[in-house]
Amino acid sequence: MNMKAQDQLELRALPGNDRCIDCGRRSPQWASATLSVFMCLECSGQHRSLGTHVSFVRSVKMDSWSPKQIASMRAGGGNDACRAFLADKGGIDTSVLGSASIPEKYDTPAGQLFQQVIKARVEGTPEPTELPESSAGSDDSDGESADDDGGGGKKKLASIRGEAKVMEGFGSSPHPKHKKRRWRRILGSGVAVIGAIATVGLSRRKGKKPVSRVSLSTRV
Ligand SMILES: [Zn+2]
Repeated sequence: MNMKAQDQLELRALPGNDRCIDCGRRSPQWASATLSVFMCLECSGQHRSLGTHVSFVRSVKMDSWSPKQIASMRAGGGNDACRAFLADKGGIDTSVLGSASIPEKYDTPAGQLFQQVIKARVEGTPEPTELPESSAGSDDSDGESADDDGGGGKKKLASIRGEAKVMEGFGSSPHPKHKKRRWRRILGSGVAVIGAIATVGLSRRKGKKPVSRVSLSTRV
């Protein structure tokens, strides 16, 4: 479902959303559904390269938006709110002419925390206040340290989310297969039972009226 004009107007009216959060270009046409920020086309490319778990980029006008994604865009409070959060929690220079690159702003513990806060606001659960373990340390290099367990858990979570999306994408396609298989099994056992009855019948009657029994089994 495309974002309604009314939703677009409301979201664009949030503080800072009239300009790209990263370079300050006017009238940004792209947005991150995970970070709840507006950005220009050029900067959206860099957001994409961070991966959808960090920044899920959508076109405001052309892409479809779920009600939950639109709710997230509202819950974030706009570009200025994101900037203030990252500066406050992560000490990140989020000014347009600042030194921090796009990955240095969002692919960070503060960026992750902001996502979790938005999610909590949308779901009506308590907002987390503590920064997650550093995502920079979650590489496989020293997977035995205690710190890395946290990172691994997060990775798992991300992959589970990915799988959920895939399931959504394919709808309920796995189920009909299951049903088919079950039907085949039921049909198969039914035929076997009838076949057995027919055989028993045949042997008992010793060829008196075998034709009806046989036709019963073949009909199924
Ligand atoms: Zn930009």
